Amino acid sequence: MKACILSIGDELMSGNTVDTNAAYLSRQLLAAGIEPVLRETVGDNRSAVAEAIVRAASRADVVLVTGGLGPTADDVTRGALADAMGTELEMDERCLADLEEFFRCRHREMVVENRVQAMIPRGAWALPNPIGTAPGLAAKIGRAGVFVMPGVPREMVEMFETGVRPALPASGRAIRQIALHTFGAGESNVFAMIRDLMSREGDVTVGTTISEGLVTVWVTSRAGTEEDAERQALEVVEPLKERLGEIVIGEGKVTMASVVGQLLRERKQTLATGESCTGGLIGELITQVSGASEYYLGGVVAYDNAVKERLLEVPAPLLAAHGAVSEAVVAAMAEGVRRKTGADWGLAVTGIAGPAGGTREKPVGLVYTALAGGGGTKVAKAIVPGDRPLIRQRAAMAAMNMVRLALAGARKG
Ligand code: AMP
Ligand code: MG
Repeated sequence: MKACILSIGDELMSGNTVDTNAAYLSRQLLAAGIEPVLRETVGDNRSAVAEAIVRAASRADVVLVTGGLGPTADDVTRGALADAMGTELEMDERCLADLEEFFRCRHREMVVENRVQAMIPRGAWALPNPIGTAPGLAAKIGRAGVFVMPGVPREMVEMFETGVRPALPASGRAIRQIALHTFGAGESNVFAMIRDLMSREGDVTVGTTISEGLVTVWVTSRAGTEEDAERQALEVVEPLKERLGEIVIGEGKVTMASVVGQLLRERKQTLATGESCTGGLIGELITQVSGASEYYLGGVVAYDNAVKERLLEVPAPLLAAHGAVSEAVVAAMAEGVRRKTGADWGLAVTGIAGPAGGTREKPVGLVYTALAGGGGTKVAKAIVPGDRPLIRQRAAMAAMNMVRLALAGARKG
């Protein structure tokens, strides 16, 4: 069972709007056991859209189209579907009544231009739009079921859930995807570690992506039943985990911050942060997780040396002797914030995020992280590649990863 997704709109073609509809629909199709095999973006041009629909319908069992159902002249999908079906648009009295009701309920005047939204190709049928004016359209072209939904993401999702998903053909296939997130090795290093397990053929495929500082290994498994798809996926996931070892931070919807939070919660321990070059980013990431107050006490953004001295008790002579970006100072920051807050763990970062401020001894990207705990203080040094936002993100991730390794290691031991 195969699907094509068509995204219609000049704003997508120009890059002014990012196509989030296609991403959503791909995920939904996969979950329904239907494989997206082609995604296409087409501008607001009636003949181009009609051609794309015909092409897609010849290649797939399901064609999902979004966009171009509005009331203005640049919305051409309705007419294009009629052309693709070799038929004409005609007024649908039920749709017209619904449309008039929509405006009446909201005490808005319906202008004559809106009437076109009640026109549907002969032989197609309307899909109700519970939250907007444009009804969707469903039709059969050859063996393909074609579904047209509004471009507005909120309306598209609502219509997909209520009108399209229930009408999708039964695929007889189940697709299971498992995401294994890793931190600490580059994508090519991860690839080198698992090269022989990265099958691109057959029922189970393995691929990698990078996002938010994590390298993710995706396992996609296809089978006749949910159980078989799950079992097949796990048969690959287990050896992958074994091979990747401690760089695996978790699976599925987890983030570095949620993993660290979970580990702290399990051990009933608390964390506090002292941040220089990351300017509070670690605190931001940690507190994105609901319930972080259980384990995160707070942090100090100690950007200026005077603040490092006064609020984190970093000794002035230490700063004078080694400079703010140094092993000695990051350790003192971590210990200082731990002592001041009474947290079990004090985490600190100092570094040179650039683009200015680098020297030969201390280049842009030099980052020190430190974790102070009951058993002492650990310091790590790294030269982080990238521009300022990337260096800050990676520094924050590397710091949180120190906590993860300290806690996961202790749990194992
Ligand atoms: P339309 O149904 O073509 O009038 O689209 C209405 C609005 O929805 C557009 O102005 C865009 O802002 C948004 N939109 C359309 N298509 C997409 C898409 N594929 N992904 C995200 N937003 C979209
Ligand atoms: Mg449009």
